[in-house]
Amino acid sequence: MSQKSIGRAAGAPSQIGDNLIAKPLPKPEGLNADFYRECANGRLCFQRCDDCGSWRHLPRYLCASCGSAAFRWTESSGRGRIFSWTVTHQAAHPAFAADTPFAIVVVEMEEGVRLVSDLPGVPLDSLAIDLPVEVFLESRSSEIGLPHFRLRESD
Ligand SMILES: [Zn+2]
Repeated sequence: MSQKSIGRAAGAPSQIGDNLIAKPLPKPEGLNADFYRECANGRLCFQRCDDCGSWRHLPRYLCASCGSAAFRWTESSGRGRIFSWTVTHQAAHPAFAADTPFAIVVVEMEEGVRLVSDLPGVPLDSLAIDLPVEVFLESRSSEIGLPHFRLRESD
C-alpha cells in the first residue's frame, strides 16, 4: 500500500500549472454559521439540549431526544475515534487534486456525535476503526473555522 500522506498544510491552495486554486469554504447560514464561528474562535462546539442534556450535530433547532428548542453551544472535549472513512482518489474540485488520494473520516466524538472531517498527514494504510484522534482548528476568517483531526495517544 502507498505510504503517501494525505493533505499538505490544511487549507493550503493547490497548484495546477501556474494557477493557484483556493479550496472552497463553507457558506454557512443559520445554526451552521454559529458552528463555524465557534470554530473560528478556537472552540469546537456542539449543541447541547438544556432540557435533557443530549448532544447533537448536525446543527438543528429541536432536540431529537425530547423535542425541546432550548439549547446552548457547548465545547467538546475535541477527542474522538475514527468511526468510518472513505478514500478519495478523484477530486470533485480541482483545488483538492494535488491532495489525492486522501481520506475523509467520520469521527465519533466522546460526546457521542459524529463529525465528517479529514486527517491530514496520516498515512492511509494506518487508518483503522476506533483509532483515537483529536481535533485541531484552522481559522480561515473571523466567521469560519474548519475542524481537522490528528492522531492522539490512546487513553
Ligand atoms: Zn432534549
